[in-house]
Amino acid sequence: MSRPASEAGQRSQATGWATAARELGLASGAPVNLGWHLADRICAAGRGGHPALLWEGHAGETRRYDFDDLRRRSNAIASFLAGLGVGPGDRVCLFLDRVPELYFAFVGILKLGAIVQPLFSAFGDESLQTRLEDAGTLALLTQRRHLGKVRRARERLPALRHVVVVDVGAGALQPGEVALDLERGPLPEAFEPHRAGPETPSILHYTSGTTGKPKGAQHVHGSLPAQYWTAKVALDLRPDDVYWCNADPGWVTGTSYGIIGPWSNGVTQVVLDAGFNAERWYETLEKQRVTVWYSAPTAIRLLMREGTELAYRHDLRALRHLASVGEPLNPEAVHWSRATFGRPFHDTYWQTETGCIVIANLPGARIKAGSMGRPFPGIDAAVLDPERFEPLPAGRVGQLGLRPGWPSMLRGYWGNRSAFDAKFRKGWYLTGDRASVDADGDFWFVGRDDDVINTGGHLVGPFEVESALLEHPAVAESAAVGKPDPVNMEVVKAFVVLKPGFEPSTDLELEVMNALRRRLSPLAMPQEVEFVPSLPKTRSGKIVRRVLRAREWGEPPGDLSSLMED
Ligand code: AMP
Repeated sequence: MSRPASEAGQRSQATGWATAARELGLASGAPVNLGWHLADRICAAGRGGHPALLWEGHAGETRRYDFDDLRRRSNAIASFLAGLGVGPGDRVCLFLDRVPELYFAFVGILKLGAIVQPLFSAFGDESLQTRLEDAGTLALLTQRRHLGKVRRARERLPALRHVVVVDVGAGALQPGEVALDLERGPLPEAFEPHRAGPETPSILHYTSGTTGKPKGAQHVHGSLPAQYWTAKVALDLRPDDVYWCNADPGWVTGTSYGIIGPWSNGVTQVVLDAGFNAERWYETLEKQRVTVWYSAPTAIRLLMREGTELAYRHDLRALRHLASVGEPLNPEAVHWSRATFGRPFHDTYWQTETGCIVIANLPGARIKAGSMGRPFPGIDAAVLDPERFEPLPAGRVGQLGLRPGWPSMLRGYWGNRSAFDAKFRKGWYLTGDRASVDADGDFWFVGRDDDVINTGGHLVGPFEVESALLEHPAVAESAAVGKPDPVNMEVVKAFVVLKPGFEPSTDLELEVMNALRRRLSPLAMPQEVEFVPSLPKTRSGKIVRRVLRAREWGEPPGDLSSLMED
């Protein structure tokens, strides 16, 4: 229910995270190196021979690594980076496909005490460069196939001193580039982990807002009890599970629950380094005997489109728990999943900034299809009046707020104190989402409270698209908004005002699109460019994207009184 922290809420908060800390053997004030906890602690508990990673590449090649392999390979990467002079606090970017080295490096960088900066390898030049520049990244791990983008970025980034290429036989390298071949190099049994305290920075995850460049949400080693506990309780992970999280570690779901959650619980996880393909996904679920599956509404909608028959052709009886995150989970998807897999997808809600699931339909609890569920025990959530920031009564729509204090909440945005401070009002952390809560305490997602576009669970900041558009010589100004899409929920649509002397045409639209393609990730690419004579603006000259968005969605545009007249 929408209410301030109750005594019972605070008690369960203390109990849940404290139980997690106890199970993890974390003594107050003692070092808590996240990397060590994901590998060495599991080995020390006698489960070094238990499979950690069941990996399959896009061409069908497979690899299997146990926790001992994970421990040694992450040690190898930590000592390799230390040899280059990388140390605690330095930012190290992972610009890799979902190859095994990505996972080993994530753990190794944390052991070293450096800060991991995972970025989607699909990012275009502009997306990569702005994030490396913002973080002042010192080293980057990549594959040969991405070297072109990395080399172009380095021309403008003198701080990026080391590029580590992880493919075997990395070929001709340039100064500042170095090959790392884990299959040949020594795999040390031990590496002295950095004595990280709970507040030592661990991961920088870049996320998009309406204005300004993407921001680096900074997390800490002490977040561990949150991911460990929510993976165990909300995703129902048990020691002998085979778990599959579909997310790429460029997105927070791919680290919090694609690395930290399962491995801190000593659970085997599956990684498929390939794009979506319904047949292949069902084959993977069947072949690996996946028991717990964490997916996203866009993927579920794609599976629904392929039909139930395809699912029935596979033996999916190992599946025990299904969960979803990233976008609203439509009630139809819940009903379809019940009919197809004999169990519902459980919606979970959280963000880059929260670091862990904060609202969920817990295993075994009754599900109201279409609802995100209830606050995870230990999380105090409320729907707030957007002006007074006081909890609203049940049924009213307001801004979703959370009381700070859970272990994995971001500690800041990298180098951007004012953006961080702007996230808090009257002791509440503001999520930027609108929601309502019903009389039973179930939360319902309504929409974003800003202009950020959620396409297939991937947040796209309009600013980034608009900045890339402005680089084109014909573009005077532009606005990027979400337009409805049956699979991705929304896709990016750009409205463009041309400079004098340029005329709208299909050729020009294609040319603009091609120029964007190199700069942005495929997900941020507009699906449509519409040339318009002007954009709706406030009297102070700010573009009012909501008016354009409402038009795309066939919704009323809201109050227009503050708009400038053409
Ligand atoms: P990100 O920080 O990229 O993980 O995106 C977080 C945002 O995705 C949230 O602020 C929501 O707007 C959206 N989101 C995440 N989970 C859900 C969910 N279960 N239902 C609706 N929207 C969600």
